[in-house]
Amino acid sequence: MTFKHLSEYFQQLEKTTLRNKMVEILASLFKEANPAEIGKLCYLLQGRVAALYTAVEFGVADKMMIRAISQGLEIDQKDVVTEFKKEGDLGTTAEKLRVRNKRKGTRNTITISEVFTDLYKVASSTGDGSQEQKVTILAGLIRSVDPLSVRYVVRITLGKLRLGFSDMTMLDGFSWMEKGDKSGKETIEKAYNVRPDLAYIGETIKKYGIKGLHGVPKPGIPILMARANRLSSAEDILLKIGRCAVEYKYDGLRLQVHKDGKMLKMFSRNLEDVTSSFPDIAKAVRVQVHVDSIIFEGEVVAYNPKNGVFVPFQETMQRKRKYDIEKKALEIPVKLFVFELLFCNGKSFLGSPYFERKKKLKEVIQKGNTIVYAQEHIVSKEAQIDEIFDDSVEKNFEGIIAKKLEGLYEAGVRGWNWIKYKKAMNKKLTDTVDVLVMGYTKGEGKRTSFGVGQFLGGLYDEKRDMFVTVSKIGTGLTDEQFRDFFTRVKKLHAKEKPPLYDVDKLLEPDVWLEPSLVVEIACDEITRSAVHTAGRVMKPSKSGKAFAVDIPGYALRFPRLVRFRDDRRPQDATTVKEVMKMYGAQGKK
Ligand code: ATP
Repeated sequence: MTFKHLSEYFQQLEKTTLRNKMVEILASLFKEANPAEIGKLCYLLQGRVAALYTAVEFGVADKMMIRAISQGLEIDQKDVVTEFKKEGDLGTTAEKLRVRNKRKGTRNTITISEVFTDLYKVASSTGDGSQEQKVTILAGLIRSVDPLSVRYVVRITLGKLRLGFSDMTMLDGFSWMEKGDKSGKETIEKAYNVRPDLAYIGETIKKYGIKGLHGVPKPGIPILMARANRLSSAEDILLKIGRCAVEYKYDGLRLQVHKDGKMLKMFSRNLEDVTSSFPDIAKAVRVQVHVDSIIFEGEVVAYNPKNGVFVPFQETMQRKRKYDIEKKALEIPVKLFVFELLFCNGKSFLGSPYFERKKKLKEVIQKGNTIVYAQEHIVSKEAQIDEIFDDSVEKNFEGIIAKKLEGLYEAGVRGWNWIKYKKAMNKKLTDTVDVLVMGYTKGEGKRTSFGVGQFLGGLYDEKRDMFVTVSKIGTGLTDEQFRDFFTRVKKLHAKEKPPLYDVDKLLEPDVWLEPSLVVEIACDEITRSAVHTAGRVMKPSKSGKAFAVDIPGYALRFPRLVRFRDDRRPQDATTVKEVMKMYGAQGKK
């Protein structure tokens, strides 16, 4: 397939905000692609040249791109800047300049694979002279492809290809390509949860059909992590799952460790490769885990080296860094409490019950100081659960996780095999919610100096694959947090409302933000609201011209910021379904 043809698809995708339409376009695009190019195509649709969990980034900013456009089209950098000021987007800037630039001929036949190879070179060139190399390759591409392709080459490289859909929509696209409907999605999603690499999914389906997807883990490729539902008493837990295992809910950073021979990698909950941040854990794995290949999970928790006391989550997060790693490892030592086995010596444990996974895990982890087996307690009485809960809180942990003895490991699913019961963040609401920061209004008074007054927080609506609003938050931030907040969001400014957002006109912020930053919010209560779109259902008014609220949405009462959740992807924000459950649970008290 030519890159020009793909660019026409990009353009069609950009023009629609309707999810069904996007799925239809994607299915037709996938159908046209051949098995050798579908993988590359999948990455390009995500604006990347590698899977999401591989740290391959372009490292190209506007300035460098301006140089590449100027060099490629042999025009002055000043002219590029003038056009950019008018357009506000370097993609369309380069496209327009390319149209006007009659001197060089274009090759409409340049293929996806050829462009991909060049883009991959741009992303993988590092070190001395890499800037020049990136500019030269990009200039060459800009010179040789047609104007529409120039628009997308530029946007992809700048990380600004925003087609408005997530991986889930692509999975729907595969199902439609194969079955002509969504009936294949469940199987595809299950395989994706175990191997979240769209290129692998696309290639396998092209070659062997949906039945070719087997869902076996592969060391080195992160598995989407299983998650817990919440309940707020020992009584409710026993009613739900009966006799069960209880573990402490350690308050740190979830890690998935992969080892295969010499290969050792560690991933965070949002699939970021954090191997280089934890050399001490890597060393301990080599000493304490004697198997050829393994995938296991645990929670890293930092402690005070002077008294051994476990410290809050924020301090553990300081270890997730790229610089001064050795120094920080001494200042902030950590332990890894391991609680899950997913794969061992070539065998998948995803389909084995909890007690078997734990038994094997205990066998393969040797005793030591850094890696510690997370001890479970089998309980059948409320008093036993309450006792472990109190112990956990005393040790500075967050509460407990109750686990169903027969429960399987459900990759990527928030199920009832794990139930969390956390210590109250405040007296009224016993839990907090993670919201996506969707935009902000400019500050007034003292806050003017920080640039942010209130921000708009959203939940993830899984059914619609969209973000919906649940709160406006302006309190709970210290001056330092306001400053930190502003620095973070500055990089996320969007020109217009991102396509994945559903926001009522009354709540539109001054500045829209790309979906990226997730924060944890505490509040007193969940209430119903006519303006928030979380859970809201609209129906046409009598005249049929407008829409009116049929079922109101949900909102947070007295919301305040607790902390930034850098380990969350936008889709990891609390879901509408969870907030509905929390609302229901409130009524019971
Ligand atoms: P929360 O914000 O309540 O921590 P979460 O959204 O981070 O929840 P959940 O899946 O809902 O994620 O809660 C489980 C989390 O608790 C895991 O991601 C893991 O990081 C942490 N955890 C701590 N101890 C355990 C344990 N023993 N077993 C499983 N998870 C644990």
